[in-house]
Amino acid sequence: MKVKGIALFSGGLDSILAFKLIAEQGIQVVGITFETPFFGAAKARATARRIGLPHAVLDITEEHLKMLRAPRYGYGKNMNPCIDCHTLMLNIAGRKMEEEGADFVFTGEVLGERPMSQGKQSLRVVAKNAGYPDRILRPLSAKLLPETEPEREGKVDRSRLCDLQGRGRKRQMEMAVHYGVTSYPPPAGGCLLTDPMFSRRLRDLFAHHPDCRIREIELLKVGRHFRLNETTKVVIGRNAMDNDTIERLADHGDTLIRIAQVPGPSALIPGGGSEDTRLLAAALCARYSDAPKDCEVVADCIREGVLSSTPVRPATPEETGRFII
Ligand code: SF4
Repeated sequence: MKVKGIALFSGGLDSILAFKLIAEQGIQVVGITFETPFFGAAKARATARRIGLPHAVLDITEEHLKMLRAPRYGYGKNMNPCIDCHTLMLNIAGRKMEEEGADFVFTGEVLGERPMSQGKQSLRVVAKNAGYPDRILRPLSAKLLPETEPEREGKVDRSRLCDLQGRGRKRQMEMAVHYGVTSYPPPAGGCLLTDPMFSRRLRDLFAHHPDCRIREIELLKVGRHFRLNETTKVVIGRNAMDNDTIERLADHGDTLIRIAQVPGPSALIPGGGSEDTRLLAAALCARYSDAPKDCEVVADCIREGVLSSTPVRPATPEETGRFII
């Protein structure tokens, strides 16, 4: 029976090199990449196609969101729960390995490349907590790590694997030349959960709407966000693309606000809001319109298809500063 490995494939250079190291041993490789609202698979999909790696993309939003609400090892600098996120990914990849009758899972991780999540201890803990302590291989650093089952059983030749360590990229560049890899995406800086502004918004969302749905998370990616009270927020577009997205994401029960007769943003209150919060949201929306800031304008509020128009005075910079998330 041919040996088979499942590659956890990001599409970056390290994952391409890990694939090359395994595939050149005559091992059959299938790549998988995960996607959620916080990271996509476009880069991996394109790279897999280019290098001829059979590849599948799995949407793991539900499981990832569940983990993200209460990560066992907590968050990094922002809302990135990297240890738990890696654990989940390896667990799902391990399940895929079992389903497909494959022999092991491998990744492009390099020991010490990311001090927090790729130290020796983290790599060990993640493989153990994922449920496959002995079947997760890191070909680029394998010689510096404990031997895994496929190496012990001779399914993978450990002597042909590498001993890369640290943040330097020199050895990877040499390997890229050796394998004729001329085109690859620049190293990724981390997913949306490592972004401070997005993290602030997500923290606010989890605090006020613990049962939030994917739509609420998608809204975090656009516009300016203002917390009006414990139950109500408003999202205000910054440009035409934001406005289109906000209007597309509007749902039953929401209130959509536009300023009448002058160009300006679209604003959305998920859940509709009360009369008071609608007025406040309209004033904030007027602040970012082309209307003069020192006189009243008319705000159109649309809810469940019913339009109501109301005069408002644009919010002051102090007010926008008080409510912005
Ligand atoms: S940067 Fe994002 S995708 Fe990568 S491990 Fe951390 S949380 Fe997961």
